[in-house]
Amino acid sequence: MSANDVFTNAIKRLDTSAKFSNAHAETVSRLRQPKQCLEVHIPVRMDDGSEQVFTGYRCLYDDARGPGKGGIRFHPDVSREEVMALAFWMTIKCAVANIPFGGGKGGVIVDPRKLSKAELERLSRGFMRAISGVVGPETDVPAPDVYTNATIMAWMMDEYSVIAGKRSPAVITGKPVALGGSVGRDDATARGGFYQIQELVKIKHWKPSNLSVAIHGFGNAGQLFAKLASEAGYNVVAVCDSRTGLHNPDGLDVASVIDAKNNTRKLSGDGKEISGEDLLGLDVDILVPASLENTITADNQADVKARVIIELANGPLTNDADDAISKREIITIPDVLANSGGVTVSYFEWTQNRAGYAWTLDQVHDRLQAKMSSEFRSVWELAQDKSIDLRTAAYAIGLNRLAEAHEATGTSEFFANK
Ligand code: GLU
Repeated sequence: MSANDVFTNAIKRLDTSAKFSNAHAETVSRLRQPKQCLEVHIPVRMDDGSEQVFTGYRCLYDDARGPGKGGIRFHPDVSREEVMALAFWMTIKCAVANIPFGGGKGGVIVDPRKLSKAELERLSRGFMRAISGVVGPETDVPAPDVYTNATIMAWMMDEYSVIAGKRSPAVITGKPVALGGSVGRDDATARGGFYQIQELVKIKHWKPSNLSVAIHGFGNAGQLFAKLASEAGYNVVAVCDSRTGLHNPDGLDVASVIDAKNNTRKLSGDGKEISGEDLLGLDVDILVPASLENTITADNQADVKARVIIELANGPLTNDADDAISKREIITIPDVLANSGGVTVSYFEWTQNRAGYAWTLDQVHDRLQAKMSSEFRSVWELAQDKSIDLRTAAYAIGLNRLAEAHEATGTSEFFANK
């Protein structure tokens, strides 16, 4: 799939879900393209004295409901179209989570694992300088995404504060707690998804100890979901990263697999080696795609045997795969709902920064749980009511909220009626 298809495919969902919403056609056509997308080229002095120029983007997709919101990704496959698709998903996600943000996203074409720490700092600061005119606490608020972390957020916040001439913690979320980050932001994406699985388990009267889980992608979201699920008694039987995987039908010792991965950068532990592709086809109850877009495609969707898919990654199912899977008895909790815990705690962080509060971990967890449970229930109920899948229901709810904001300043009917 070419990068261009990622965006074209992403916005196709507008048409499939708009008919289940009350959104005016003007909202739907406004959402067919981003409000703005800035491309920047960042010269960075490398440790060997040479200069390298990196390309990056910051896209503000829509800001009718509030400032743009969405992470910054450092990855070799970043492209303008990918950033636009991710910014579109953020727009829907913030509306589904019902937090007062629009959607945005940023990215730099780079493999950060090939940079020294000092080069990474110079690139992060250079990128923030380049986008500083279009981001800000009231315009567009970045956060971490694939291969970016709290330290990178700290460098960017510091750089923006120098440019603004005042300390500006609310310009970016996912910061270290010592610099205005929120407690509970680090595992918020995984925890948000975990609370939703718990909600589904309640609705279905299932028992966690009878449920097996396979996790595709072992970065922040994948690892922390594995930890929460195994602590709650689910049987985590398989995990994989971009290189290899581990499978143990009796359940992996998740804590030691996480330790090994973080200490040695390699996946190892009490399981047999398995490829990422084979992991997707395991006969498990819950499959958790937690890596990148387009993991499950038309070619491998037929292998999936799970009863539930929870999309912790953004866009892990292509449209073709999703169409085929939604015709089977598989419940897919879509990315715009499943991984909205991350941006929800980002919203808590932004709120605390602006109000000068520091909430406790219990306060963050209670508020996150309340939000995840209620948004999951609303999507679930609409899906039941209209006999549609959860993705279509989530988009319909998001579109209704976006439409309310767009329509508040008038539609064609309003102006025709002079
Ligand atoms: N990158 C995360 C996402 O895709 C978090 C965004 C945020 O916190 O703004 O949802």
